[in-house]
Amino acid sequence: MTRRLSRLGRSVAGKVVLITGAGSGIGRATAHLFADEGARVGVTDLDRERAKTVAREIEDAGGTAWFEGLDVSQPDQIETVIQRAAEELGGLDILVNNAGISVHAAIDAGGYEAAWGQALEILLTAHTRTIRAALPFLRQADGGRIINVASTEGVGATPAISPYTAAKHGVIGLTRSLAVDLGKEGLTVNCVCPGPIRTGMTQPIPEEAKVKFAKRRVPLARYGEPEEIAHGIVSLALPGASYINGAVLVIDGGMTIKNA
Ligand code: NAD
Repeated sequence: MTRRLSRLGRSVAGKVVLITGAGSGIGRATAHLFADEGARVGVTDLDRERAKTVAREIEDAGGTAWFEGLDVSQPDQIETVIQRAAEELGGLDILVNNAGISVHAAIDAGGYEAAWGQALEILLTAHTRTIRAALPFLRQADGGRIINVASTEGVGATPAISPYTAAKHGVIGLTRSLAVDLGKEGLTVNCVCPGPIRTGMTQPIPEEAKVKFAKRRVPLARYGEPEEIAHGIVSLALPGASYINGAVLVIDGGMTIKNA
């Protein structure tokens, strides 16, 4: 074919993306995929060494990456790092709020208040801070994108992790609310809801338990791979996704629709 019949492209080449928690799991796979597709990638993580390693992996493969340590629970770090990333990479088109921790706490357990505070701070409040810091740059982009990583815990609930579940429900609420607020400026705000994925977060779950769970609960009968979430995230950043706003993209092998 010599002539395109459509207007909107399917490439993120030349775009600048900043990813939080990109040192491991879903964030790392997302950094790799954006780089493979020609984007310049700001790799940030609480663990600076991990961010450095991922940036090196990208550079070694011929991509463009910049890295820095970023603890998303530290508001002053957020401002500085996002500003520097935009300076180093030449603006900012896409923000991926991915950093996260797992939090286990039954409602009547000791330490519940601390678990609640930590979950809300890292999984939800931090998103508002990175978005506020990135907004001046996203507004200058040609169709800025915000993509939040929620969870199937944002649309359902597993026992004894209510701080995590409440925070992830909050991420969906924040996504939809900001989609309404920022849409008129041409920015889109969407989120993905991963199901059970093989990452650092699920690494402590024994293999037999993973297999058993997946066979019982997931129509595809397996855990997902980080790259399978990365593809959902990059899809929401494509120029062709310009009318997708406020969407909640569940990527769980069908887990949440299965009744029996
Ligand atoms: P992971 O542990 O492999 O990666 C999480 C990364 O976030 C780590 O590199 C960690 O250093 C970083 N991080 C933790 N606290 C941070 C902080 N305060 N500031 C900056 N970075 C921080 O886990 P993952 O599964 O890839 O998690 C990524 C996101 O996916 C999280 O938001 C998580 O809630 C979500 N998620 C994961 C699953 C799953 O099954 N793995 C399912 C649903 C949602």
